[in-house]
Amino acid sequence: MANNYLTIFSYFFDTLFPNRCQICGAPLKSGGYICNSCELNIEYIKGNTCKRCGAPVSLKVQKSGLDLDSENIWICSNCRGFNFRFNINESLYVYSGILRELIHIYKFEKRWKLYKYFSEKIIEYKLEYIEKHDYIVAVPLSKSRLKKRGYNQSSLIADEISKRSGIKYLKNAIKRRGSSKPQSLTNSFKERYINMTDKITLNHRYEDLINNKNILLFDDILTTGITASECAKALYDNNAKSVNLLTIARTLR
Ligand SMILES: [Zn+2]
Ligand SMILES: [Zn+2]
Repeated sequence: MANNYLTIFSYFFDTLFPNRCQICGAPLKSGGYICNSCELNIEYIKGNTCKRCGAPVSLKVQKSGLDLDSENIWICSNCRGFNFRFNINESLYVYSGILRELIHIYKFEKRWKLYKYFSEKIIEYKLEYIEKHDYIVAVPLSKSRLKKRGYNQSSLIADEISKRSGIKYLKNAIKRRGSSKPQSLTNSFKERYINMTDKITLNHRYEDLINNKNILLFDDILTTGITASECAKALYDNNAKSVNLLTIARTLR
């Protein structure tokens, strides 16, 4: 039912605004989603990054003893205080400015077709990383959020990057039990942690499949990493060989 509403909404939106920039509304002569001037203002993560969470780091950051690979390991101060359950994260963008606005309209204003834009960019910049994995899984929404929104923004993109990369997407691989409040509405770090405890499990039908496999977990934004960590734990508890995270954007504190 929700999908019918989305299709109708999308039809009217496309009729009213054919080929317009999703951010500023400027007409787009050759299709696409974002105009050139808005695109230029989107901040990609480049240069040195934290090898755990993918945040940009300055050269001042000290080398850590963590043995993630044989190269020099750069770990940001946030990651030194919290142990994620996934190995590493890579993000395409910094979660700020225009990009933050774009993710917001993608999630909360029913512009679900933007999954195509994000998927294109992720494939353009992160294909090599994606191809290191056997399967892709997406961080789930709670049932109530899914019902309200009508789509899981992470699932749409995970499915599309699977089609474009050839790495299989395991749909509904992770289940979210209970009715935990959306993380964006909770207050403190501590509350977020309590909010998530024991709510996330692996779908039983994938237990054998993920055994000893390298899993790429996909989410839209990496903030505290707690939700993604709970998902990674569920995968490791079922004998995944490795779990890495891929996100559209990384918040910076
Ligand atoms: Zn624009
Ligand atoms: Zn970090």
